[in-house]
Amino acid sequence: MNPSYLYHAFGVRHHECTKTEFKGNQNIHYIQTRKDKLRCPECNSRHVIRSGCIFRDIRCVPVGHRETILRIKVQRLECKECGCVRQEKLHFVTGKRCYTNKFARYVVDLSRIGTIKDVAQFLNLSWDTVKDIQKRYLQRHYSNPDLSTLEYIGIDEFAVRKGHVYKTIVVNLQNGQVVYVGNGKGADALDKFWKKVCKAKARIKAVATDLSAAFISSVMENAPDAALVFDHFHVVKLMNDTLDKLRRLAYNQEADLMKRKVLKGTRWLLLCNGEDIYDSYHKNRLENALEMNAPLMKGYYLKEALREIWMQVDKEQAEKVLCDWGRQAKDSKVPLLIKFANTLMAHRSGILAWYDYHISTAKLEGINNKIKTMKRQAYGYRDEKFFELKILAMHEKKYAFTG
Ligand SMILES: [Zn+2]
Repeated sequence: MNPSYLYHAFGVRHHECTKTEFKGNQNIHYIQTRKDKLRCPECNSRHVIRSGCIFRDIRCVPVGHRETILRIKVQRLECKECGCVRQEKLHFVTGKRCYTNKFARYVVDLSRIGTIKDVAQFLNLSWDTVKDIQKRYLQRHYSNPDLSTLEYIGIDEFAVRKGHVYKTIVVNLQNGQVVYVGNGKGADALDKFWKKVCKAKARIKAVATDLSAAFISSVMENAPDAALVFDHFHVVKLMNDTLDKLRRLAYNQEADLMKRKVLKGTRWLLLCNGEDIYDSYHKNRLENALEMNAPLMKGYYLKEALREIWMQVDKEQAEKVLCDWGRQAKDSKVPLLIKFANTLMAHRSGILAWYDYHISTAKLEGINNKIKTMKRQAYGYRDEKFFELKILAMHEKKYAFTG
């Protein structure tokens, strides 16, 4: 076989092919290093003598839709220069792997159009081999994202398995790239991230988070100059949770069966944006439910008014609206609403910081959804490190492996 064919097809240089066999669905090429190319693996000297050999079977890219194997005669060499006795080095294979580097690249390319299972089946490999090839590729390219230019970040957590195992992710809000994946959801989950930020000498200007005390203290401690911006949607969600609690309370306290029926099933109507309810049937239903219960009505109108905080022309106006909102909530005398107002007032500066930096964790919601899809595709990702790497590589559309 032509040596340049060996090079261009399989990435093999300095070798010659002595024999080719065709067995079943396999092409087997017997190859060995050309005599004039034998070198000491230690000092690269040509003064070596051969002392024994072994054979290694290495997978390489298929030819003619057939599995193709290089059966390599690997020489044991004794060096006259440095005295070492070693096996010759194969530059087209890494370590003890049973496939060429070019084959690994081929697997990576196929992984862009098929799931791990598809690729494994297509090439007659094990699922783990394909996964390991992907993993090493991701490790090399994505395990250490550049943090030096990081300025605006969003922090959020998501459940890996229902309820218990959490991961915390940090996203660069300027380009949507996940720059860090940490274990757990407390402040500890971010420790390694801050170390990396410090090492990269990044100057973080603003951080968007939910109202989690752990994240807040972690940011204040590690990035004291950064502005904390409490995410708009998380604040609204907290209000919605409060309203839902009020609804359940009203339902449970209502003795009249007919009235209970009216309250039942109004959750969606209560929580959705009031302006989005157009038809009179739903409007009436909502009004009937609200008329029956004063705390619920107060809560509903406060929820509708909450949005105003983010709709003002400037921070000063917004602060007025916020304080006014807090007063109204306290005047309502409804304990759940008072409690929420206190939370809101305690986080006032972070809520209003939105007027200085228009950032939110909305991007992270999208990322969380993508992660969910990814988990479903690949048997829940038993290999955690691999799962993390996939999340770090997610922003690169063309490298987004399926499965
Ligand atoms: Zn040597």
